[in-house]
Amino acid sequence: MPLVFSLHAGAGCGASSPCAERDCARLAALVRQMPLIALAIAGNALTLAAISLYSAPLALTVSAPLALAGLCACLVIAWRRLIRKPIVEAEARRILRRVKLAAAPLAFLYIAWAMALYMHAGPGQAEALVYSLALTGMFTIFALAQLPKAALLVGGMSLPGFAWLLITGGDASAILAGVNIFVVVLALFMSVNGSSREFDDLVAARACAAQFAEDNRRIANTDSLTGLANRRAFFAQMSREIARSEQVFMGIVDLDGFKPVNDLYGHALGDKVLCECAGRLRQFETEGVSVARLGGDEFGVVVNARMTPSEILAFGARICAALKAPVRIAGAEASISCSIGFARFPQDASDAEQLYERADFALYHGKQHHRGEAVLFTAEHETKMRLKARIEQCLRRANLEEEIRLEFQPLFDAADQSIVSFEALARWTSPELGSVSPSQFVPIAERSETIHTLTRTVLRKALRAAKNWPETVGVSLNLSVRDLLSPIALSQIIVIIETSGVDPARIDIEVTETSLLTDFEGAQAALTTLKRLGVKISLDDFGTGYSSLAYVHRLPLDKIKIDRSFVQEMQGNGVARDIIKSMIALIGSLNLHCVTEGVETSEQFDLLRKFGCNVVQGFLFSRPIPQDEVVRFIADAGGGRPYAASA
Ligand code: C2E
Ligand code: CA
Ligand code: CA
Repeated sequence: MPLVFSLHAGAGCGASSPCAERDCARLAALVRQMPLIALAIAGNALTLAAISLYSAPLALTVSAPLALAGLCACLVIAWRRLIRKPIVEAEARRILRRVKLAAAPLAFLYIAWAMALYMHAGPGQAEALVYSLALTGMFTIFALAQLPKAALLVGGMSLPGFAWLLITGGDASAILAGVNIFVVVLALFMSVNGSSREFDDLVAARACAAQFAEDNRRIANTDSLTGLANRRAFFAQMSREIARSEQVFMGIVDLDGFKPVNDLYGHALGDKVLCECAGRLRQFETEGVSVARLGGDEFGVVVNARMTPSEILAFGARICAALKAPVRIAGAEASISCSIGFARFPQDASDAEQLYERADFALYHGKQHHRGEAVLFTAEHETKMRLKARIEQCLRRANLEEEIRLEFQPLFDAADQSIVSFEALARWTSPELGSVSPSQFVPIAERSETIHTLTRTVLRKALRAAKNWPETVGVSLNLSVRDLLSPIALSQIIVIIETSGVDPARIDIEVTETSLLTDFEGAQAALTTLKRLGVKISLDDFGTGYSSLAYVHRLPLDKIKIDRSFVQEMQGNGVARDIIKSMIALIGSLNLHCVTEGVETSEQFDLLRKFGCNVVQGFLFSRPIPQDEVVRFIADAGGGRPYAASA
C-alpha cells in the first residue's frame, strides 16, 4: 500500500515495511525543518556578507548571497510542493537520497565562500565570521538530526575548513576557540546521532503499534468462524453506502434447517456448514455487493446498485438457489435452504438500523408464506409493522389479569368422540385496540418478559376453571419456550400447578415444535422437570419445524399434535394424505398418543380415525367456547370419560 503522508498529520501512515515507515517519518521531520534551515542559512549568509561588506570584493558580498537566496527560495518552493502533494514510499526514499547527496557539496561551497570572506577580513571581522558560521553550522546539524548521514556530511565538510581557518590564524586564542568549536560540533554530532537512533526506534515502535491497531481493527470487523465481515462491519459499511449512494439494498439471509443440523450432528459440523454457506455467499461478492455474517445462521448482504424490485428479487432467488444445494461434510449430507428479506434505501428507511428492522420484518413475514424465497419490504409490511409496534406498546401497559379471558376448545377421543380435555386459548381485549388475535399478540409477548405474565395469568385462570370440571376431563395449556428457558418463570409455573388443586395427571402442557429449536437442551431439561410433577407433555404444531425422529425421541413426550395445515391439505391431495398417514404411524411406533388439530370436515375425521389417530380437535366438533359455557358443554356431551383411558 503506498504511503501517503501529510505535514499536518505528522509522519507517515500505512507504510508497507518498518524501513519505509522510517524513511517517510524522516522525510516528514525534514520537511518540518526545511523552512527553518532555509531561514537560518539565508540569515547567516546576509550576516556574513554584511560583516565583510567593506573588506571583501562585491562578487563575494553581493553575488554569492544572491545565489544563496535563490537556493533558499528553491528550498521553500520544494517544501511547499512536498507539503501539498501526497508522497509515496519510493518517492520519500528518493528525496532523502537527493538531500544526502546535495548536503556535502552545498556545505563545501558554503564553507569555501565563508573562507574566501575570511581571507579578506580584518581581526574583529574574522571572529564575527567564525562565530556566526559556527552557530549556523551547529543549527544545521541539529536540524538535520533525523538524517544523521546528511548531518555528518555537513559537519565533515565544514569542520576541516574551520580547523584550517583558525589554526592558520596563528593566534593561540583562535586555535583554542577552534578546538573548542571542533569539540562542541563533534559532541553535537554524537548527540544527534544518538537521538536519530532513538527517533528510528520510536518510528519502529509506532510502526508496530500501527500494525497492531490494524490487526485489531481487522479482528474487530471480521467474523472469526467464516472470515466474512461481521455485524459491526456490516452496519458500518451500510452506513457508508447510504451516505454516498442514491440507492442501496440491505438483505438479511436466514438459513432454514440449520438448527436441527447443529443439534443433531454437533457444533463442529454445524460450523462447517456455516463456513460452506459463507463460501457460497462470498461468490456473490462483486463490485457493489458485499456479504457479512450477522451472527448464528444469519447473514447480511449489502447491494449498492440501481435495481428494480424484480431485479433484486431475482438476485435474492439466485442466492437462495445457491444455498439450497445439499452440503456434504464428513460423509453426512445436510439439507439447508434460506429465506431473504430485502429493504431499500431511501424508499423504506433512512438509516442502517431502520433498514435492518424492515429487512428483518420482510424476512420473518416472508418466512410464514414464502419460505425459501426472497421477499422485499412493502407498504403492506410497513402497515403491519406499525400495528405490531402498537400492539407491543399496549401489551406492555396492559392489565392482563383484567384484559385476558379464556376460551376453551374441546379435544375428543377419535374412537368414541367423548371429551378428553379442553385447550385453554387466550383472548385479549385491549381498551385501545379492541380484540386482538392470539396469533398476533402471543408472538409479540414472546419477544419480552410479558409472555411470563401472560402464561401465569392463563394458567391461573384455566386451572381455576378446570377445578369445576369433572375429574375425567383434562386441561391443555400452551407454554412458550421462553417460559421453559427462564428458571424463575418455570419455578413460578410449577408453584401455580402445585397449588391449583387440580390433579397434575389432568394437565397437558403444549409446546410448539419450532420454538424448541431455540435451545433444545434447555427446553428438554425444563420439560423433564415439569414431567416429574406428573403432567403430560404434548409437542404442538408438529410438522412445521424440522423435527426428525432422532430429535423427538429425546424429549419426554406423551403426545404429538399434528399441525392443522397437514389436515387441511389432506382432502383431494393423495401426497398430503400419505404424509399424515405415515406421521400417525410413526407417532404410534414411538408409543406416543397422536392428536390431530384443525379437523373441519367429517371426511378428514373419517380418514384420521382410519389411520389410527387417537384424539381430534377442530371446528367439526366445536369452536373454542367461552369459559362459562364449558360446564354446560360437558353436561350436554354426557360428561367426560375416564381420562386415563384416553391418554
Ligand atoms: P394453537 O395452540 O395451535 O391453538 C389452536 C388454534 O387453532 C386456535 O387458534 C384455535 O382457535 C384454532 N383452531 C382450532 N380448531 C380449528 C379448526 O378446525 N380450523 C382452524 N382453521 N383453526 C382451528 P387461536 O385461538 O387463534 O390461537 C392461535 C395460537 O395462539 C395458538 O395456536 C397458540 O399457539 C397461541 N395461543 C393461544 N392462547 C395461548 C396461550 O395462552 N399461551 C400461549 N403461549 N399461546 C397461546
Ligand atoms: Ca396449542
Ligand atoms: Ca397447534
